[in-house]
Amino acid sequence: MNVLFGISASNGIGIGKAFVVPESEKRVIPSNFIKPEEHPKQLERFEKSLATVTAQIAAQLDAVKGDKVQSEIFETYFLMLNDPEFLKDVRTSFENSNRTIEYILNQKTEDYADKLRSSGNEYLAERAQDICDIFGRVLDDLLDFHPFNIENVPDGAVIVAKTMNPSDTIILSKRQIAGLALIEGGVSSHVGILARNYGIPAVFALENITSEIQNESTIIVDGDSGEVIDNPDELTIDEYRKKIETAREHSEKLKFFRDQPAKTEDGELFKLYANIGTVEEARIAMEEGADGIGLFRTEFLFMSETNSNIGPAHASGAAFSEESQFNAYKTVLQTMQGKPVTIRTLDAGGDKLINSSEIRNASDEKNPLMGLRAIRLSLANPQQLKTQFRALYRASVYGNLKIMLPLVTSIEQVKQALKIAEKVREELKSEGIEFNEKVPIGVMIETAAAAMTADCFAKISDFFSIGTNDLTQYTIGVDRENSAVSELYNEFHLAVLRLIQKTITEAEKAKIDLSVCGEMASRRDSVLVLAGMGVRNLSMSPKLITQVKEILSKISVPELKAISSKKLNDL
Ligand code: PEP
Ligand code: MG
Repeated sequence: MNVLFGISASNGIGIGKAFVVPESEKRVIPSNFIKPEEHPKQLERFEKSLATVTAQIAAQLDAVKGDKVQSEIFETYFLMLNDPEFLKDVRTSFENSNRTIEYILNQKTEDYADKLRSSGNEYLAERAQDICDIFGRVLDDLLDFHPFNIENVPDGAVIVAKTMNPSDTIILSKRQIAGLALIEGGVSSHVGILARNYGIPAVFALENITSEIQNESTIIVDGDSGEVIDNPDELTIDEYRKKIETAREHSEKLKFFRDQPAKTEDGELFKLYANIGTVEEARIAMEEGADGIGLFRTEFLFMSETNSNIGPAHASGAAFSEESQFNAYKTVLQTMQGKPVTIRTLDAGGDKLINSSEIRNASDEKNPLMGLRAIRLSLANPQQLKTQFRALYRASVYGNLKIMLPLVTSIEQVKQALKIAEKVREELKSEGIEFNEKVPIGVMIETAAAAMTADCFAKISDFFSIGTNDLTQYTIGVDRENSAVSELYNEFHLAVLRLIQKTITEAEKAKIDLSVCGEMASRRDSVLVLAGMGVRNLSMSPKLITQVKEILSKISVPELKAISSKKLNDL
């Protein structure tokens, strides 16, 4: 038995077999020269690999029968694998060269993908990723290379990894993961947020865990204390099973709060909204008694669709189309049955990279968190923002929609975005498409620049939502994802609290709605401080709503005020 200490990133206890994720490997294409007599053998290998992958796709096509979207993707793959012109080009180029078949196939695939990307046709540009993906599989078969696939994680496992790419995190919603034990990541990192959304116990900042823990060994993740126990003895397992049982009993009791309004002991009412990243989570939000959606992080929707690690269904970039966005937003609005739904425009870039031919990404930036992310990325790709606005406005007739712009730092950015929204409204009108003209458009206050000029933003915004995760990160200058500096990440830093206070005051003066959707809105200690400062709208992981209702039900407004005043004067 060995105990490792990290930081608690998501509460709860999980026991399971370790699924150790290796550091990522890359396909290596041989660049050596070959003799003409080697040609027939190499060609034979190529045909064999082509046949193997074709058979795999045929089997996958069979397995997804009935699922229109997935079938279409596999059918496209099938057609690409049998494209006579492309294959002829590969074979002739190979025969006329002195390079390996892998080298030629890789080169031809990239050339073909580049042509598609620069075709100026949206549909063809999206197919570039497909062609890379499908012939990448042929290359892997030729090279006998078996890239690690997170899809293989079994239900009930504990994922042990250096970190999880945002695109890999989709697995957290698809499998019953018992726990997460990571080397990297801060409490407000996106993987942390998702772990809490799905109720997965998580411990981060566990140095060397991937080398210390054997694959398949039994481990306990104690997300309450920030400990991971490797190879626990029977007595310890029993002790933790009891803790799991007690937590289960408590969560049964919390169900009582689902249909109750959120209010303090002395009757002050609050609205508790849900933060979601997938369409599916809207259903969870309803089950947990959310008053609406306070933050729909649409980038997760995009990322899951463009993830090349988890199979072909996600490589098409299909989610970027207006139609698939419209369907996602419509479903969320309908699921929420008229309750307010705040949908945030794409907050990609930074640590949330999107693999799309349509979006100029920030992947090669030296300092991505300071770079082309969120509203900056959207304004640099106005077509993407326009498509998103179109999908949002079209969906607006299905519920109570609000649109939110992330990471604004200048009034000019908001004006530009509003102009695009206006253009979209005019376009829809001329096309005779029904939409709600009065959809409120608000901004996230998550930088010191925005908080300090909140009075100016209030003049052109319908509402504010404070993103305390980024506000803390940018105010203190501490990377929220970096476990090496996680001790400096302090939401109670006086500078952060004063910026929140300033934002609340300006929203009150301008009489616009204000909510908090960062992680501070759901943690026991911080939610009390925010409530004491006057915040009445809180948005959080759906699974935490009943817990926060319970916390608020045991306290009065004067007590809340005393708590926040102590924090604000705690020099
Ligand atoms: C925040 O920054 O607090 C926030 C809610 O946005 P995100 O966590 O998605 O950056
Ligand atoms: Mg943010």
